[in-house]
Amino acid sequence: MSERVEFLVIGGGIVGVSCAYYLAERGLRPVVVDRDEVCSFTGSTFANAGLIVPSDVEPLAEPGVLSRGLRWMLDPGSPFWFRPRLCPYQWRWLSLFRSACTEARFLAGMRPLRELSVASSGLYDELAASEGPDMTLHRNGWLVVHEDGATHAEAVAFEREAQRLGVHAEFLEPDELRARVPQLPRHVVGGIFNRENAHVLPDKCTRALADRARTLGAEFRPKTEVLHLEGGRDAGRRAAGPAGGGGRIRRVVTTRGVVEPDTVVLAAGAWSPHLTRPLGFDLPVQPAKGYSITVPRPDGFPELPLYLAERHICITPMDDTIRMAGTLELSGYDTTMRPRRLRGIVRGAAALLGPLAEQEPTLLWRGPRPLSPDGLPFIGRSPRHENLVIATGHCMIGLSLGPATGKLVAQIVTREEPDVDVRPFSPDRFGADADGTH
Ligand SMILES: Cc1cc2nc3c(=O)[nH]c(=O)nc-3n(C[C@H](O)[C@H](O)[C@H](O)COP(=O)(O)OP(=O)(O)OC[C@H]3O[C@@H](n4cnc5c(N)ncnc54)[C@H](O)[C@@H]3O)c2cc1C
Repeated sequence: MSERVEFLVIGGGIVGVSCAYYLAERGLRPVVVDRDEVCSFTGSTFANAGLIVPSDVEPLAEPGVLSRGLRWMLDPGSPFWFRPRLCPYQWRWLSLFRSACTEARFLAGMRPLRELSVASSGLYDELAASEGPDMTLHRNGWLVVHEDGATHAEAVAFEREAQRLGVHAEFLEPDELRARVPQLPRHVVGGIFNRENAHVLPDKCTRALADRARTLGAEFRPKTEVLHLEGGRDAGRRAAGPAGGGGRIRRVVTTRGVVEPDTVVLAAGAWSPHLTRPLGFDLPVQPAKGYSITVPRPDGFPELPLYLAERHICITPMDDTIRMAGTLELSGYDTTMRPRRLRGIVRGAAALLGPLAEQEPTLLWRGPRPLSPDGLPFIGRSPRHENLVIATGHCMIGLSLGPATGKLVAQIVTREEPDVDVRPFSPDRFGADADGTH
């Protein structure tokens, strides 16, 4: 027995929930399945840094990042770690990442990221201003703090470039920095204030959006894992051919029965490739583990998120707590929490904020960011199955990009004119071959 479903969304993180919301807003009735629950503890959304950052227009793949990564690997407390594995997908991803780390590709990625991010930020405002559960949005900007003159000068030069894309940046002297955050020590050399940025409580915000989607007619099915997607007779690698493909997803086998969907939206974060590879399509997404540590918020800590630039640590005030987040571990789907990485974050934050950062944690967490090789998400129809829409690969800024991604997906599904040019986000931009195993 199988059940017919018009719109099946796989994944209940910020991306899947946003897709469900914008589908339901159009009067459609999406069904969202998650193997755990909305905003699962094991996903990437649950306890992330909560930042909505339209100012962050730097694609992850930037020139020089590889040599920096190699240097960091020699330092156990550094914000980056890579564990080589005997996995052909990891090596294909690395090779694509290396090719994307050029000046030309980096600069070309900035504009589409900015457009998507600004659109998303505007949607957060719209949602926060409308009736419904609290989206927890605080639009107070964020403050980038520099401890090193050379990095500060480089960042200022980059922000001047970004200003051409409309990014608002205010350059601050050390005294001006300390006037905003009195806890900062004397050795800081300068900072950048981006007033258009915002922050939310990621779990509460995602659940609030899910509740709004439910009110509009979306259905959420927790504890329902998708085991595999079955293509139709004409689908698959040999028969379907390149983009457009002609294939269709006919059946979706889940732990709670078989679904026959008209349209499938794949928003399973870092796990998305597990469902596309058996269809002969290697979506190049790798999990990149990050950590967060949440501690009680000390009196006087401002309602202003900080980014400690040289240490790659975000510090976000969240109600009566502050959350420190950072680290990028390319170690596959391994969920081990490495004490060294956690200590690295606390020490880094303590070097600037002293004992504030060293209180007993109320939450320790790690989550797998879905990393694309060029830092741009994958949003669009699958190259092989025309009723499969892909929405993943949002790297470090999936919370920021969630609502705009959801709206784009809804526009793609309903064949409306999209608000944002979707071509840079094509799921097919790296080619699609996979040998069908993972
Ligand atoms: C430490 C850290 C800090 C971060 N800080 C920020 C930030 O400040 N701002 C920002 O914009 N981004 C941030 N990010 C990145 C952001 O968290 C991710 O880009 C975003 O959460 C991705 O959302 P998603 O919905 O694609 O994936 P997820 O949140 O991982 O959701 C995927 C869901 O799919 C489900 N699923 C997987 N496989 C299946 C299956 N087979 N069947 C059914 N369900 C399945 C999972 O259970 C999960 O719930 C941070 C990430 C980390 C790790």
